[in-house]
Amino acid sequence: MTAPADSPRPTTATDEVVDLVSTLIRFDTSNTGDLRTTKGEAECAQWVIERLEEVGYETEYVESGAPGRGNVFARLKGADPTRGALMIHGHLDVVPAEASDWSVHPFSGAVEDGYVWGRGAVDMKDMVGMTLAIARQFKSTNTLPPRDLVFAFLADEENGGKWGSQWLAKHRPDLFAGVTEAIGEVGGYSFTVPTADGGSRRLYAIETAEKSLGWMKLTATGRAGHGSFIHDDNAVTHLAAAVARIGAHKFPLVQTDTVTELLAILSEETGLEFDATSDEAIEALAKIGGIARALGATLHDTANPTMLSAGYKANVIPQTAEAVVDCRILPGRREEFDRTIDELIGPHVTREWITDLRSVETSFDGPLVEAMNAAVLKHDPGARIVPYMLSAGTDAKAFAGLGIRCFGFAPLKLPDDLDFTALFHGIDERVPVDALLFGTRVLEDFLLAS
Ligand SMILES: [Zn+2]
Repeated sequence: MTAPADSPRPTTATDEVVDLVSTLIRFDTSNTGDLRTTKGEAECAQWVIERLEEVGYETEYVESGAPGRGNVFARLKGADPTRGALMIHGHLDVVPAEASDWSVHPFSGAVEDGYVWGRGAVDMKDMVGMTLAIARQFKSTNTLPPRDLVFAFLADEENGGKWGSQWLAKHRPDLFAGVTEAIGEVGGYSFTVPTADGGSRRLYAIETAEKSLGWMKLTATGRAGHGSFIHDDNAVTHLAAAVARIGAHKFPLVQTDTVTELLAILSEETGLEFDATSDEAIEALAKIGGIARALGATLHDTANPTMLSAGYKANVIPQTAEAVVDCRILPGRREEFDRTIDELIGPHVTREWITDLRSVETSFDGPLVEAMNAAVLKHDPGARIVPYMLSAGTDAKAFAGLGIRCFGFAPLKLPDDLDFTALFHGIDERVPVDALLFGTRVLEDFLLAS
């Protein structure tokens, strides 16, 4: 039987995924963190809507608290309406890029030398393109997944989701009704470790936890006065001392459940010992390659001073001085962290959170993890999936707050020698074409089995 002339031609995800990712990159969706200069999300969202409606989806376009902050939602009905829905989410914004630093234009989406190049290639228009390709294939082939799928394309992730996921979770929880589990960034990518027998093993890092993300403002108050006088209550001095104490503080090494499980697997695979209660763990991790940088920061809390401001004239002692500290706290450590900071800032400095996003942690088990495992191993037999904690934050923080169980699973099979984590927000960000094709096949099988 031939299809009626007006029915859309079925699309095949692997045939169009590279083109979709390349086109997504050509939308300059730079998020500067400032509403006045952030751009491109609405146009990109509109293009996503067209690609979805073209194959028959009904879509919902939602602006998250400010004009142009565009989000797109679409649902695909599954076989069992009594089961909770699975959400696949990705953000459309990217961090800015300085074109003169790059080998190719960062918004060219060039497909060269086996890679798709450009800002967002790994963070995260790769996953957005794979998701879109599969959503289109499923709809145009009348595929019935086991349960409802919710596809979410989001704004403002690179600014902590203030005008994106955080706003949506607070003001439009109805968009996530019935969603019990979700996948998004940052996980599912492979890294290769040396094995005890002199060989190597490819592992896939599944994100099951995230440190909290907090930006803390410090304000020191003193007595204003003339710069020529003797002065023992100087706000700048108080602030500088507090900032120096915080910056120099070494937070204790703490092994969370996720990190304990990961280190045990890494020991088993590599034959190396990782005693996470000693500094040597970080040195030992360095022996397993570029991934160590991402893992080292999940062994303890961090508090890095990032901004300072005070004063308006060289001979005037100001009454106040301010600083901002970037804080990343392990799950379960918040109270202890707050106590430590209060001791470090001393009596003349007060603090407030200007951004305060919770940590996330879920267990590495259950049917969804088994489905990830089966889908990865089908396409990369001999590999192994492992849990890990992200030291940064994603939209998962907002969704976990709604009770949704979140994982980072954007599968990519990467060359052994590619320093993948360095590409995030990096110069010459790019994703291998083969990795996109692999990821699309894995995601398709995963969604059909989850
Ligand atoms: Zn991202």
